[in-house]
Amino acid sequence: MSAAVSLQNVYKSYNNISVVNDLSFTIQPGEIFGLLGPNGAGKSTTIRMLTTLTKPTQGQVEVAGFDLLRQSILVKQYIGVVLQQTSVDNDLSVWENMELHGRLHHIPNPQRQQRIGQWLKYVELADRRDSLVKTLSGGMKRRLQIARALLHQPQILFLDEPTVGLDPQTRRRLWEIILDLNKQGMTILLTTHYMEEVEYLCNRIGIMDGGKLISLGTLSQLRSQYGEGLVMKQVEERWEYLFFPTLEDANTFINQQPNKTGMMARSSNLEDIFVELTGRRLD
Ligand code: ADP
Repeated sequence: MSAAVSLQNVYKSYNNISVVNDLSFTIQPGEIFGLLGPNGAGKSTTIRMLTTLTKPTQGQVEVAGFDLLRQSILVKQYIGVVLQQTSVDNDLSVWENMELHGRLHHIPNPQRQQRIGQWLKYVELADRRDSLVKTLSGGMKRRLQIARALLHQPQILFLDEPTVGLDPQTRRRLWEIILDLNKQGMTILLTTHYMEEVEYLCNRIGIMDGGKLISLGTLSQLRSQYGEGLVMKQVEERWEYLFFPTLEDANTFINQQPNKTGMMARSSNLEDIFVELTGRRLD
């Protein structure tokens, strides 16, 4: 089976300013792949290229086995997209938003009505089908966007910062939906800057910074690559972080120190690796 998503040496520049710089990675069918990176890393631009919204300046991209530039209409049939800005129409009702999308995708009736009903029920919006979108909460709007993205039965779902600005309960509910869709066979690529989101959802993680992929792997691969043990050492007002292959090695290091004040050992997590790699803390 061909890869769900494949990028080879992809570049994107705006006005000669490089935003994505020699990006290559592959996502296999059935994966939940997380693109993680600080603001400005190029994550949204990457998603916009993969979903045909903007063209790569250079490089080879295939989505669902189709060439992004030559077969963009086919690509669009196989992907669902939920972008950061809520793109649902506030002045239309929930049902009207779904109906519009269904018509744009030429889904005939009665199938269209059956699917609208099915997906609104799935995201728990069936009882709001006649509400104007502007009366919905942020979490409901996001769920509507997801229902709409699923209407034409895509194989690959792209989610750009799906839970940004949502309360913890709503975020958990969206996580359950994402995991459930994946269980049903959907390949998912999401961008986020929430570490716990990546740790909870993603099989593999690509860390981007400055338009480049600076690390790629499962969480356990990344932890074994950078160190599973960590010593935190307080130096005046700030903390220094030292990585060790194992937690035991980190503890041994502390035990060997004549002065152990302000030192503690613990297991490393994704945030530690992220900060080590990008030298920045996320908001
Ligand atoms: P991220 O999603 O990781 O925060 P983006 O892909 O949104 O990063 O942006 C990466 C860089 O590209 C930023 O410096 C941003 O200002 C720039 N950029 C994004 N879109 C455009 C555009 N349409 N025109 C010019 N610059 C852009």
